[in-house]
Amino acid sequence: MTHRLPVKNRSVLGVLALSAFGLIFSGVVSAAEVNVYSARKEALIKPLLDRFTEETGIDVNLITGKADALLKRLEVEGDATPADLFVTVDAGRLHRAKMAAVLQPVSSEVLTQRVPQHLKDAEHYWYGLSQRARTIFYNKDKVTPADLSTYEALSDPRWKGKICMRSSSNIYNQSLVASLIDATGEQSTEQWVKGLVANFAKPPAGGDTDQLLAVAAGVCELTLANTYYFGRMLGSSDAKYQAATKKIGVFWPNQAEGQRGVHVNVSGAGLTKYARHVAEATLLMEYMVSDEAQVWYAETNNEYPVVDGVERSDVLSKLGSFRADPIALNRLGENNRAAVELMDRAGWK
Ligand code: FE
Repeated sequence: MTHRLPVKNRSVLGVLALSAFGLIFSGVVSAAEVNVYSARKEALIKPLLDRFTEETGIDVNLITGKADALLKRLEVEGDATPADLFVTVDAGRLHRAKMAAVLQPVSSEVLTQRVPQHLKDAEHYWYGLSQRARTIFYNKDKVTPADLSTYEALSDPRWKGKICMRSSSNIYNQSLVASLIDATGEQSTEQWVKGLVANFAKPPAGGDTDQLLAVAAGVCELTLANTYYFGRMLGSSDAKYQAATKKIGVFWPNQAEGQRGVHVNVSGAGLTKYARHVAEATLLMEYMVSDEAQVWYAETNNEYPVVDGVERSDVLSKLGSFRADPIALNRLGENNRAAVELMDRAGWK
């Protein structure tokens, strides 16, 4: 940030020039505030909110919690909710919030221009703030990249007893399956899930990190995990994680000509239906897609920025680059029920 106003001037100014995102925002008084419900842990978002306060004079009150509990809370509180902004992870969950009628659309030139079309709700109920890919991680002693190609190929019997996978109750796997429904149809996706489940090394248990550790330990040969879990291990000073990362390779599936690309998803935010601080909440969302915020937020969370041209962290650069599935992420939410039902029928615990 180059043109920062001295603190004592900012609090008395009625009009603030926000050079970071080229906006003139009028009428901000020192009592301005915005209330945020965040499914992201405090350390992964608070410094950014503090920075926003520093730049705008708008106070941010942060309440963190589990994604599903916060959504429930918004529903229960109804028009009495203090929340203006809901920050959560996975387009499937953002879609649930939209369907639960706790959000309202935001029209913002900045958000329209900076967040790519497929990473936001088509009706503007939510916007992606950072991206993650759900890709293949394999044990380098047992698998070579030449053995791998697509998500679809993971149902091949050659992988029998060799795949570790998180439970189907997890939204990440539901969204991945939702993307396959979009790409290949429901019937073919159900066949795929059946084949995949038949290849499980053990019943699903634990989170993405547990699957990665199991791959490193040779309990299984490969898994699907979100990139930031591996990024977090790479950046960790814990010897257990350091040792594990040396055993694990990353593979980007569906990259060949004519194939759709790697499954990506977002963390994102939406304005609550009963927000009392609409202008401030919108300004905060706009701040979060500024270059400065995108760099910090993506790097701190080991994620990819959503805004084109914003640099990736060193840790993620080590993973190499990939072509992402350009599916409109709305579809993940819209296909969620079909995904959950077919995973259930196919025996994915
Ligand atoms: Fe996660």
